[in-house]
Amino acid sequence: MEAALITSRGVVQLNRCAQCVIKGGTFTECVVVPGMYNGSCGNCKFNVEGGYCTFASKSMEIP
Ligand SMILES: [Zn+2]
Ligand SMILES: [Zn+2]
Repeated sequence: MEAALITSRGVVQLNRCAQCVIKGGTFTECVVVPGMYNGSCGNCKFNVEGGYCTFASKSMEIP
């Protein structure tokens, strides 16, 4: 169960990603599991398959 994995291993982000701020999602917190989903948070993983998460690897290239 991926949701359980995220809640058990994820790290709550103090600064939420854009999608969590705007829409929220499955989880009340913005939770990122290190090394999974290209760095996208759990909500983005379930909402849009991580494609628009500001924590996703492609966005992390921005300093
Ligand atoms: Zn998020
Ligand atoms: Zn996100």
